[in-house]
Amino acid sequence: MSDQKIYPVNPQIAASAHIDSANYQRLYQQSINEPETFWAEQATEFLDWHKPWQEVLQYDYPKGEIHWFKGGQLNVTVNCLDRHLEKRGDQVALIWEGDDPSHDRKLTYRDLHTQVCQFANVLKANGVQKGDRVCIYLPMIAEAAIVILACARIGAVHSIVFGGFSADALRDRVIDADCRLLICADESYRGGKVVHSKLNVDKAANQCPNLNTIIVIKHTGHDIPWTAGRDICYHEAMQTASTDCEPVMMDAEDPLFILYTSGSTGQPKGVLHTTGGYLLYAAMTHKYVFDYQEGDVYWCTADIGWITGHSYVLYGPLCNGATSLMFEGVPTYPHPDRFWQVIDKHQVNIFYTAPTAIRALMAHGDDFVTRTKRSSLRILGSVGEPINPEAWEWYYQVVGSKRCPIVDTWWQTETGGILITPLPGSTPLKPGSATLPFFGVKPAILDPDGNLLEGEAEGVLVLTYPWPGQARTIYGDHARFVDTYFAKFPGYYFAGDGARRDADGYYWITGRIDDVLNVCGHRLGTAEIESALVLHDLVAEAAVVGFPHPIKGQGIYAYVTLNVGIEGNSSLKGELKDLVREEISAIALPDLIQWAPGLPKTRSGKIMRRILRKIAANEFHDLGDTSTLADPSVVEQLIANRLKLP
Ligand code: ATP
Ligand code: MG
Repeated sequence: MSDQKIYPVNPQIAASAHIDSANYQRLYQQSINEPETFWAEQATEFLDWHKPWQEVLQYDYPKGEIHWFKGGQLNVTVNCLDRHLEKRGDQVALIWEGDDPSHDRKLTYRDLHTQVCQFANVLKANGVQKGDRVCIYLPMIAEAAIVILACARIGAVHSIVFGGFSADALRDRVIDADCRLLICADESYRGGKVVHSKLNVDKAANQCPNLNTIIVIKHTGHDIPWTAGRDICYHEAMQTASTDCEPVMMDAEDPLFILYTSGSTGQPKGVLHTTGGYLLYAAMTHKYVFDYQEGDVYWCTADIGWITGHSYVLYGPLCNGATSLMFEGVPTYPHPDRFWQVIDKHQVNIFYTAPTAIRALMAHGDDFVTRTKRSSLRILGSVGEPINPEAWEWYYQVVGSKRCPIVDTWWQTETGGILITPLPGSTPLKPGSATLPFFGVKPAILDPDGNLLEGEAEGVLVLTYPWPGQARTIYGDHARFVDTYFAKFPGYYFAGDGARRDADGYYWITGRIDDVLNVCGHRLGTAEIESALVLHDLVAEAAVVGFPHPIKGQGIYAYVTLNVGIEGNSSLKGELKDLVREEISAIALPDLIQWAPGLPKTRSGKIMRRILRKIAANEFHDLGDTSTLADPSVVEQLIANRLKLP
């Protein structure tokens, strides 16, 4: 398809970038040839250590054992806060932008440090000790940063559960991590609507026998039910808490947090990340992937309930002393220009969001974008799903006014940080390709039998060598960790995604392995067909799945969402088929095209193809785990209008 199209590196960006293409080549080679020397140098450059490590790396992939910087000691908050105080105590660390455009707030590094210490003391006063798990169920409010870092200050392991999850989803995660203390808000705002956080917590807590303390942050200030003896008011507790709190020194391999994956493919896994390697990897990727420069205002729109929020709203940026923007709201409220308004308001230089948001905003037309300035923008980023070339072009041309390189970053909850990505000053861009590996990352492509493929190839994406940000286990289930990531292709980390490597060595994520279609013996990735459909001017979004076909084995079922206000008809279906025929081949033609007013998505905005597959296969009585589904009514609507072969 569009792999012919190349955007050369913007010379202006390259001139001031940390990494230009010569640097990339040199450092990448060093990181691969002498990884331990490379990572030791980076760990010294990026982090302050209380005690040096004894060994850089020790690992045994078949056993799922990975240790970085063993014996080294540090504290994450010393690195994210204390060490910045002297030079940038009065610099803004966090800009908070509320759901309501008239609400905002700024916290300097000193403010943040003070309040983190105070809340760490509140945690201690409530019996929380190093190694205890603390559940955080919060909206995107500034206090979220405070309580997260307070856990890290005293070595408590946080488990953040996305604030939009239901009581049942929350209950399962509290029980799985055996959290005794939970922090929540009274309520929160999302797109002008009130979310009843505390009510959800009460419902969940009734079914979590070990959860005995709930600290409640007042956000809307409305009246909420209160359980005396269990519930504690955040603000009252903070008032009497001391602002001094010695950081607890952690071993590099002590756990920092547990985080449940988004749940696109099934039962969520409690991914465990540790201290030293994770922080190093988050900080280093933040600096180089976004070419973060001193004084930049940096905005990652991800929720702190996802790994992107952990690594690129908080840990990476704060470790680098950046100003990070935290947004409570949604891209379409009060109007579909909100992102661009916020960029102008706070003069954002670096902007990182997800394809789902880009596609949704694109469907509202260009005017919402072009009526804003966006002149502060320098770098754009994308994460979460393959970005269709059509959406990439719109992001580049319209949002970035053809000035800003797009970093399409491929990574996972389990990888802790970005693995495959362009670097703004060094990588020529191809729309739809995540391009090249980051330092120290060694991707490879295997055939389904596990044979290593060289050169141009398409198959299963694996990583052949550890990197410091890698997850260490699945909490409470190491066997599942080994089984999921290390058993299928021994000696490799198996990501679960498919990829193609082109003649320039660029990687193109083709979708999840489980989603690969097999039509008349041809293996087809979902991403490519979807991208062809999205090329049509009237199409906002598309999802493609296989379904049992009497002749072909597997047929292709396409769910297509049209732009706001557009009605589907049969001639449009014909045009879509023509597009697929031209862009890919007649083999990839959808057998059935269903107009979908909405697609089932996870709360993090990813299309849940496993549900679409069930609907296409007529198996909607058993949809599997739907607890992470954002809007169940979408599914009912799709089932009602399901198509069958004539
Ligand atoms: P679960 O593992 O529970 O099914 P999930 O995989 O959606 O959920 P995440 O860890 O948030 O949870 O998502 C990682 C996945 O998202 C990757 O494996 C990949 O499929 C997809 N992804 C992320 N970034 C990109 C990208 N830039 N290009 C293509 N795919 C991406
Ligand atoms: Mg996954």
